[in-house]
Amino acid sequence: MNTIGTGAFRPRTLIGVIVVAVGALVAAPWYWYAHGGFSTGAWVMFAVLYIWTNIGQSLGYHRLWAHRTYECGKIMQAFLAIGASLAVVKVFLEWGPDHLWHHLHTDEEGDVHSPIVHPLSKPENPDGFWKALYGLWWAHMGWFMRQTTVPVEFKERCGFAKNPILRWQKRWDKPIVFLGFFIPFMVAGWDGLLLAGFVRVFVYWQATFAVNSYGHLVKVKRDAAGHVILFEPARNSFVLAILVLGEGYHRNHHRKAGSAYLGWKWYDFDPGKWILVTLEKIRLVYGIKKPMTHTGTR
Ligand SMILES: [Zn+2]
Ligand SMILES: [Zn+2]
Repeated sequence: MNTIGTGAFRPRTLIGVIVVAVGALVAAPWYWYAHGGFSTGAWVMFAVLYIWTNIGQSLGYHRLWAHRTYECGKIMQAFLAIGASLAVVKVFLEWGPDHLWHHLHTDEEGDVHSPIVHPLSKPENPDGFWKALYGLWWAHMGWFMRQTTVPVEFKERCGFAKNPILRWQKRWDKPIVFLGFFIPFMVAGWDGLLLAGFVRVFVYWQATFAVNSYGHLVKVKRDAAGHVILFEPARNSFVLAILVLGEGYHRNHHRKAGSAYLGWKWYDFDPGKWILVTLEKIRLVYGIKKPMTHTGTR
């Protein structure tokens, strides 16, 4: 069993986090104030790239490659891979094993991002507000700035590198990240860069990281040996679902990770599900696994 938080610090990620935060929280509001708002072109670029980012991450990284909840052809996969790289997170060959490891060790020793079991959650550290706050920070962004310690054998067993699209994504990830900032600048100027580049990445990061932090703030009990007993595997959030294409239904997801649908009721806000159902009708995707028929972690 690996321990938590012992992976090497990733200084380039910290620099990226600071640059994105300054762009989104300082430069963008300053531009808004100085120019009386953003242009229509900047807003259009923001909407297009934000939705593409989410489609790549939710329908590509999560529902297709990690959990294999449906199938699709190579061109569709390439479209998803480009959108996923726009999110400026790890390439799938790293993200995928991290994520499946999270499912195998949810909120127990080994989980890569848990607000409950984290580097300071050892019994010798006193329970209380600061320990809980650190856990929330760790699950939100702290883990993101370190290498995870998922075993190499597990990564190899996942077999993701057999997919040529995923190898292609690894090779072209950084140029796509660059284009996610450069194209909005070329199309809409500085406000395009700020809104569709920095603000887009900042909002996406905070929303998707909140699924790992807030989404895992659940009631726990410890047994006599100090092991965590969970009352729920995670929690559902309608607000997060709006921001991340339905991924906010994280309790549903942990209950039936083999389902392509995250919102199970007709009124649940799961645009990822609606897109898949629509694409199935025009035969771009097939073999969608539904929550009533499929369970399990893959
Ligand atoms: Zn989770
Ligand atoms: Zn998952």
